[in-house]
Amino acid sequence: MKKIIITVDGYSSCGKSTLAKALAKKLNYVFIDSGAMYRAITFYFLRNNIDWNNTGEVIEALKNIHLSFTYNEKYGSSDILLNGENVETHIREMAISDKVSDVAAVKEVREFTVAQQQTNTASKGIVMDGRDIGTVVFPEAELKIFLTADPAVRVERRYAQIVLKDPTITREEIKKNLEMRDYLDSTREISPLRKAEDAIVLDNSHLTQQEQVDLVLQWANEKINS
Ligand code: C5P
Repeated sequence: MKKIIITVDGYSSCGKSTLAKALAKKLNYVFIDSGAMYRAITFYFLRNNIDWNNTGEVIEALKNIHLSFTYNEKYGSSDILLNGENVETHIREMAISDKVSDVAAVKEVREFTVAQQQTNTASKGIVMDGRDIGTVVFPEAELKIFLTADPAVRVERRYAQIVLKDPTITREEIKKNLEMRDYLDSTREISPLRKAEDAIVLDNSHLTQQEQVDLVLQWANEKINS
């Protein structure tokens, strides 16, 4: 059967990874969370005191970074490995969310990450979520989704996720972080977040997870069978 590439882009906390993961499972495709790669690089930079405004330091640091994914049997998802170390829990922390959009705006970081996203996935049968997947990483993808949701719904979803691990977190902190990242991601010079011209906009504010997966699966099957 024909295999395609599906891209899921959009603002922070719209449920991109959840949708992409579910689609990959249904289609038996590879799922790649591109945001986890930017987060893992940010984690490395913070841990090693790398100044990401210093191009020389960034170039040297990137030479020491190897990213890969491993299957997590417990959660049925993939965890990111930074030089072989599972950093999945660390990269979801607020300290990383606070800095990741600054790091993701650095030219050398984007070149490094995009090259890896394109090589690792030379074959089809991929669902990748992020901000520039339909515009820059896979402009030739057969199915492109641009996900949106009401800001209040997004804050509530992210809050529900984070409060389980960090009971001190407030909705206000989450709201500020989402607004800051959306602003930085949409206004940066290199591959800013924007809808690809041929992407389908899907507002999932009032859809259940099942409803949105069913809808996108229908679109995917139309592409696969065409
Ligand atoms: O998807 P997630 O929210 O984990 O992504 C974290 C950050 O990584 C985003 O806010 C954005 O700054 C950056 N990112 C990006 N390009 C992508 C994926 C993520 O710039 N394709």
